[in-house]
Amino acid sequence: MTEPSNLDFLNSLIDPESLYENAPCGYFSFASDGTIIKINQTLSNWLGWTKNEVTGGMKMTDLLSVGGKIYYQMFYYPLLVMAGTVNEISFDIFRRDGTSFPALVSSNSVKDKDGNIRAVNAVVTDITDRKKYESELLRAKKLAEAEKNRFEFVSNYIPEMIWMASTDGVIDYVNKRFADHFKIPAGAPVLESVISIIHPDDKPGALRKWAKGIDGGTDFSVQLRLKTPAGLYSWYQIKGVPFIEDGFVSKWLGSCLDINTHVLEIEKKDEFLSVASHELKTPVTSLKAYLQLLGRLKDPQLPPVYQKLFEQSNRSVEKIVSLIDDLLSTSRLKEGQLSLRISEFNISTLLENICNTFRLEGKHTFIIHGNRSLKVRADEHRVDQVVINFINNALKYAPNSPEIILLVEERGDFAKVSISDKGPGILREKIPYLFERYYRADHKGSQYSGLGLGLYICAEIIKRHGGTIGVDSEMDSGSTFWFTLPLA
Ligand code: ADP
Repeated sequence: MTEPSNLDFLNSLIDPESLYENAPCGYFSFASDGTIIKINQTLSNWLGWTKNEVTGGMKMTDLLSVGGKIYYQMFYYPLLVMAGTVNEISFDIFRRDGTSFPALVSSNSVKDKDGNIRAVNAVVTDITDRKKYESELLRAKKLAEAEKNRFEFVSNYIPEMIWMASTDGVIDYVNKRFADHFKIPAGAPVLESVISIIHPDDKPGALRKWAKGIDGGTDFSVQLRLKTPAGLYSWYQIKGVPFIEDGFVSKWLGSCLDINTHVLEIEKKDEFLSVASHELKTPVTSLKAYLQLLGRLKDPQLPPVYQKLFEQSNRSVEKIVSLIDDLLSTSRLKEGQLSLRISEFNISTLLENICNTFRLEGKHTFIIHGNRSLKVRADEHRVDQVVINFINNALKYAPNSPEIILLVEERGDFAKVSISDKGPGILREKIPYLFERYYRADHKGSQYSGLGLGLYICAEIIKRHGGTIGVDSEMDSGSTFWFTLPLA
């Protein structure tokens, strides 16, 4: 507690006149006819008039616009007479240079004993900043509203079905086309509605992929069957992309595409190729056996052209056998029938043996780098198939790359094998599809013939080993196809 004597002392330090003069608001007083009789320094600074110029010479209404004057005379002053005080009425106050600023004016009257107003004390608060802030707020609100309307317009009229989800993967918005397509009732919880129409066989896998995609924080896609209002299941592809703000995912956006026709076409193609390859397998195996027999019966007297034709036939048959093998592997993979014969072997030795075979052709240089001692647990024959596929692709799509570089590295519990060429590279937008069945980046002409199955088979083989597969590629610099296998 402060002692009373101390209080007096402290009070004596306060200068009310200075407080009046330099307050953060304007003070002025005027007589009942409006003549200004006193004004503080703050208001005089705001107005640009000296105190002497204002007092005695100017009227309160000289500070107001024409409209302000009328308002003052018709409402403000009569109210002051009636109520004695008037609070926070908005006026534009005019400065000496003709400019004005928005202000709130509060007044209280000083009356004589007969109740007549003798003087009025007024407080002026400059609200320029507040007005600016209010108008900015209003502008921002209008902009936000316009953006929202625009988004709703685009989102509802776009021919695609689109959705939005929170960072934890809960779908909280679907556009009109989505809701109409699946007849999702307005106001129904969207996520639950979508989950309820997933085909029971696809549900566990699709939900796992969805959760993994959301956790991953990068673009993802889920393929699944959804029930249409007609009661039939159809194939859809749901794609999601993260919306990044300040370096963090703040939302998920995505599309839902009807891919039923595409999936059915692929299934038909699978079926046809599976039947065709089974039908071709037997006669081609016989053809190969007959050629082998012919080889043994070869007569040295025959002219050299026979030998050449024989070798070419052999090469062509080998090519057909490898194509049929690819087709058969694809149908086996689809039916989950690809069995693995796991053993432990040195991965560099396997690469060395493969390279030696390719070196015989003498067209490219094969260089193996990295850890030569790594042993993996895998099916040697299948890994051989993958490496040969990668090298064949490098030779096919990067024919002018003088060197093919193979690298073996240890990556945690895995061995990583990379095969690099210095070829034309692959367009970035094509990379996500390379390991899909029947996918081929545009190749016109017979130089690059193929079925688009090689990388799909490689990916399935590696996935079955618990490894990963991928490609890093840059246009005009080359491509590096890689895979990982568990270490022994
Ligand atoms: P295919 O060779 O029969 O087309 P793959 O599945 O082996 O099928 O390859 C798929 C596609 O990947 C090829 O069509 C080609 O566009 C691309 N590709 C594969 N390897 C390379 C490479 N080393 N350089 C450039 N493109 C490649």
